[in-house]
Amino acid sequence: MDINTSCPICRNLRKPSDWSLSYSKYYDAKCQVYSINCERCGEFKITHELIKDIKTFDEESALKLSWTIRDNTDGRKRRRDGTDLLLLKTSNWRQIAEKARVATSYTYIVDAIIQCIGDEIRYPGRSAKFSLAEMAARVCLPNDALVETLRSLSTVPLIVFNSDLALQTDMSLSLKGWERFDTLRSGSRGDRAFVAMWFDQSMNEAYKSGIEPALVSCGYQPPFRVDDPLHDKSRKDREYKNRIDDRILAEIRRARFVVADASGARPSVYYEAGFADGLGIPVIWCCRKDDERKIAFDTRQNAHILWESPNDLKEQLENKIRRFGWIPNPK
Ligand SMILES: [Zn+2]
Repeated sequence: MDINTSCPICRNLRKPSDWSLSYSKYYDAKCQVYSINCERCGEFKITHELIKDIKTFDEESALKLSWTIRDNTDGRKRRRDGTDLLLLKTSNWRQIAEKARVATSYTYIVDAIIQCIGDEIRYPGRSAKFSLAEMAARVCLPNDALVETLRSLSTVPLIVFNSDLALQTDMSLSLKGWERFDTLRSGSRGDRAFVAMWFDQSMNEAYKSGIEPALVSCGYQPPFRVDDPLHDKSRKDREYKNRIDDRILAEIRRARFVVADASGARPSVYYEAGFADGLGIPVIWCCRKDDERKIAFDTRQNAHILWESPNDLKEQLENKIRRFGWIPNPK
């Protein structure tokens, strides 16, 4: 791929080609790493080796990577901190791509677009200028697919164009669009859940074979892991530092509910669950059966899922979520 002229990730997602997207790169010869700033994806780094290995990312991988980089870039802007950029390498890019979820239904795509516009303008009667390239990355669509979807949404109308449909387009929501945004805002369709638990070796199976598959099978995105090495750059690859930072609090805020596992009686789990509770975000409590007596006195009155094996945890958690009807994008 020719890294001199266009972003190695999104180059095949870029139609309509009359959009000239801004793109810059800087090459660090010593580390053999490019730092890239792409109008669609955002900022990231990529090794020379990966660029050499991969001629072109297939469309689905490109969509996922573009979404993940954009999500990380947006997070950096919100936090205004110097957290490292994502570094894509031959050994990690697939894993990074798997963090994103390509939209599976039309409803889901429409909701993502409405959410994107509503979050930005916030009040009825207002409008804002949107970079459609950025929006395409946020809603995980190729550019041309976003343009066509926007066009059809404006005929419903869910959205209103206040300028010509171009790379920078001034948009607002219609009355119907606001109604839909209100439903989304009330959290009834969100597909993110937060997991508060002790990220220790002994709990790895409970997470990998219990909590994560239960959430994913109910339609949630694979949860953000507090101990993710991509999250905590300061760790020296052995142990993750147990601290609650802005990223964690932001993830809790956007969650539809929190799964809090009290096994191991970690104070951070109680802190995160309490933070969610204070915001009115529901908490599903769990605990390994042999740790039950350690459950903190103050939260003992909450019903806990008491589990004996990761599979048992998966089944009970999944049943509970389905019983509550907390299913994103019901078909
Ligand atoms: Zn790009």
